[in-house]
Amino acid sequence: MKTEFSLAQLADPDIAEADKILRACVHCGFCTATCPTYVLLGDELDSPRGRIYLIKEMLEKGRRPTKAVVKHIDRCLSCLACMTTCPSGVNYMHLVDQARVRIERNFKRPITERIMRMALGRILPEPRLFRAAMVLARLVRPVAALFPATKSPRAEPTLFGRLRAMLALAPGGLPEPGPPSGSVFAASGLRRGRVALLQGCAQQVLAPRINQAAINVLTRHGIEVVLVKDEKCCGALTHHLGHDDDALKRARANIAAWAKEAQQGGLDAILVTTSGCGTVIKDYGYLLREDRDFAASAARISALAKDITEYLAGIELKLAPGQFSEIVVAYHSACSLQHGQKITGLPKDLLSKSGFVVKDVPESHLCCGSAGTYNLLQPDIAMRLRDRKIANIASVKPDMIAAGNIGCMMQIAGGISVPVVHTIELLDWATGGPQPGSN
Ligand code: SF4
Ligand code: SF4
Repeated sequence: MKTEFSLAQLADPDIAEADKILRACVHCGFCTATCPTYVLLGDELDSPRGRIYLIKEMLEKGRRPTKAVVKHIDRCLSCLACMTTCPSGVNYMHLVDQARVRIERNFKRPITERIMRMALGRILPEPRLFRAAMVLARLVRPVAALFPATKSPRAEPTLFGRLRAMLALAPGGLPEPGPPSGSVFAASGLRRGRVALLQGCAQQVLAPRINQAAINVLTRHGIEVVLVKDEKCCGALTHHLGHDDDALKRARANIAAWAKEAQQGGLDAILVTTSGCGTVIKDYGYLLREDRDFAASAARISALAKDITEYLAGIELKLAPGQFSEIVVAYHSACSLQHGQKITGLPKDLLSKSGFVVKDVPESHLCCGSAGTYNLLQPDIAMRLRDRKIANIASVKPDMIAAGNIGCMMQIAGGISVPVVHTIELLDWATGGPQPGSN
């Protein structure tokens, strides 16, 4: 694609990067076929190619984002299916991330939306605030029935629609918190390695059992696990809201904490059980490339980050006796894992080797609608995607559904009675841990 940036514009490293990305696009349109919003809405401006044009126009003209630009960028899930499909290697992720930051800096959203986005950016990354918000949501949930209904699925999201979605996602009860930050779990038997396990933010409140399962599997296989003190939310949530200052502040704090731990105790890897977080940590090197103080250490940390299944693929799992061959598991491939990190076969291989009957879900490239805070901010599109995903999952008649991302797990569990578990919980069970849901 031909671009027309001036030399002065190209002196800005972000514009120079955008120029490189835009030039790679040959506007073939292959990406439209796998874009969930284009598949649902059929509007070119809700396709990757349409959004690329909108961003190009905004950047080249140095214009403030218009209402139309904001509407179509907001509707993008950042699922990155377009990046998997694109034959020209267009890095849509870095382009849309940049557009979101410009929108937050230069576009004045309605006051209710500003408050809501600010609240999400403040509450979700802080487990104590998030826990309190979940308790409050449970108390006020009955009033959601009084909210006016959305007129049409194509209408703009309303305040009440968003509030209803938030309240609906709040679980009926919260589990006890997991082990505190700073805890170290010794390897059983001969120590073969030492890793940090990302504690996460929303996940540690909603499902501490996931990281417990990871700790069980790792220590059982001779890996010492540390929950690094002073670690923060990875920044993914605020990054996707376009609040880059906050996201980068968290990234720098994490890099400092993990680098210190690596220096003091040694770290073979930083393991992540929430693929949305993993995608962003693997991108720290890029995000901080212009930061003289952090660029090198950010690149080192990104290289250390691994999804839990990536790390376990390098270990021979000691399978416990058990009969899993009757259990049909539908594997839901989280977008951040399959498109963001290009991890597609590993989780399924691990589950198959552990004895489960693993089934692919039809249209597995399409997002479930969770996408960070998307299901809260764009509830109608998110709900349509969830229903489509659930119909596809149900078609393989599973006994269980496995996924590698808490957001997808919550989104899917809200619409189906089949148990939804994390892949690591099944691997824990297969290697001698408890059956998921039994404790
Ligand atoms: S598939 Fe890639 S090159 Fe083709 S229009 Fe989409 S982003 Fe551009
Ligand atoms: S990230 Fe997903 S929703 Fe956004 S343009 Fe790409 S395929 Fe479409």
